[in-house]
Amino acid sequence: MPKNVFDILVVGSGLSSMIFAEEYLKKNRKINLISPDFKKKNKDNLLNKINYKSLPPQLKKNFDKIEDYFDYNQLSFNKKNCSLLGSLEFGGLSNYWGLQIDKDIGEDLNCFGKKTKNEILKCFIEILNEKSLSGKFKNFNNEFNMNEFYEKIINKKERKFNDLSAEKSILAINQKKGNFKKLVPELILKKIKKKVIFHNYCVESIIRKKNLIYLNCVNQKHTKVFVTKKLILGAGTLVTTKLLMQFLKINSEVPIKHHPRLISVYLARKKISSSMKFTPGLFQIKSKKKNDIFSGDIRPANKMILDMSLKIYSIFKPAKTLLMLIKNYILFSNNLLGTDFSNLYIKKKRDKFNIYSKNKMTLKILKNKQKKVYNYLKDNKIIFPFFKNFFPGIGADYHYFGTLNVGSKKKLSVNNMCQLRNNKSIYIIDGSVFNFRNNLYPYGYVMANAKRVAKNLKK
Ligand SMILES: Cc1cc2nc3c(=O)[nH]c(=O)nc-3n(C[C@H](O)[C@H](O)[C@H](O)COP(=O)(O)OP(=O)(O)OC[C@H]3O[C@@H](n4cnc5c(N)ncnc54)[C@H](O)[C@@H]3O)c2cc1C
Repeated sequence: MPKNVFDILVVGSGLSSMIFAEEYLKKNRKINLISPDFKKKNKDNLLNKINYKSLPPQLKKNFDKIEDYFDYNQLSFNKKNCSLLGSLEFGGLSNYWGLQIDKDIGEDLNCFGKKTKNEILKCFIEILNEKSLSGKFKNFNNEFNMNEFYEKIINKKERKFNDLSAEKSILAINQKKGNFKKLVPELILKKIKKKVIFHNYCVESIIRKKNLIYLNCVNQKHTKVFVTKKLILGAGTLVTTKLLMQFLKINSEVPIKHHPRLISVYLARKKISSSMKFTPGLFQIKSKKKNDIFSGDIRPANKMILDMSLKIYSIFKPAKTLLMLIKNYILFSNNLLGTDFSNLYIKKKRDKFNIYSKNKMTLKILKNKQKKVYNYLKDNKIIFPFFKNFFPGIGADYHYFGTLNVGSKKKLSVNNMCQLRNNKSIYIIDGSVFNFRNNLYPYGYVMANAKRVAKNLKK
């Protein structure tokens, strides 16, 4: 028997892991968490230099950080074939997310069964209340306001397009007494910091010996083996899937679900603004058809979005001052497709796990759906009749999930407690266990599920 055996060990420090830790600590004194944070010299520095910006390093042309993520995790991809993002920082991708939560979970949770589906929904509402998020859902009402023209458009009953609808999203922005704070992992850590024992390592591989789970870990200086009775995996879908494929010796191709994305820019006839300091997607235009799932979100430009766009379209740089003056008339939109159009795969290739895309039609489909969103905006007199599209690449939606099945007999599957098939001491709490076919901004439900798993474990 090894000397130090943890009862429970969490991997990752994204929102799924932090929500899990927070809930678990309601009935337990300490929790151990492994997550790399190589910038920091020691664990006491953990909170000092966390500097979450809304832009992922890739978009700021800081490729080193991304390369670290892929190198340490033995993942590779061809930049011409797809465009992926990952982060080894404390908080991972959860530092950068765009803050929207789609309330419509539709049939996405049915695979868990009615009881579990209700438990996840209950946890979702608890998160909305506990974190005072912005928006409206069932009895929860902490709505944010937009200017009148846009409020009217959203509330208007008769619209020209019956197969599309507009609605405000829920925003992962804590809104209390006129104060607005983004819900990021740091915000949760601040509350529970004293009870979290942080191990600054990257998990390289998982091994099971009898009833114990061994984690082989590395950081810039050391290697170390951690041993635990129960393992909670929240390393984000790409890494969690790779670790499990390695553990289960799966060499065949595994599809990764995601929401392909096309970015569009429009010029509005009326200025758009909201009561918030941030400018996340304020509302979504969604397809109402069950078999044709896509959406376009609408947000005004801001300095950060304009700076980034001017890097791509440098010809407009001289007009920057003017663009800043009319920024509330410039509408940016992400057009996202449902998971039927997923186009990413992972497969072991020698000592690495390669991620790639196959279908060449994705951009054509995206443009086709964007045209519908454009027509909606034009015919409802929201915009002038022109637009500009930018395709960031396949996988550049950063919504990766759905590599595991719920309740199936496949090796890569979990039961409705999110325990890995035939390995009940391994729990998966990130997006890997969901297929978000209908819900195009799903992170609220990933957090809700992590909370549910923690509640069941802490009993
Ligand atoms: C710019 C942007 C905008 C987005 N907008 C939205 C949105 O509006 N709505 C929405 O629903 N989703 C959005 N997303 C997606 C969302 O951010 C992710 O789905 C979510 O952050 C994933 O959280 P996670 O906890 O599963 O993983 P992450 O947040 O990626 O956390 C993974 C954690 O695992 C750690 N880790 C990685 N490798 C290892 C290893 N080998 N060993 C140990 N730890 C490891 C990382 O350091 C990190 O702490 C957006 C993403 C981006 C980048």
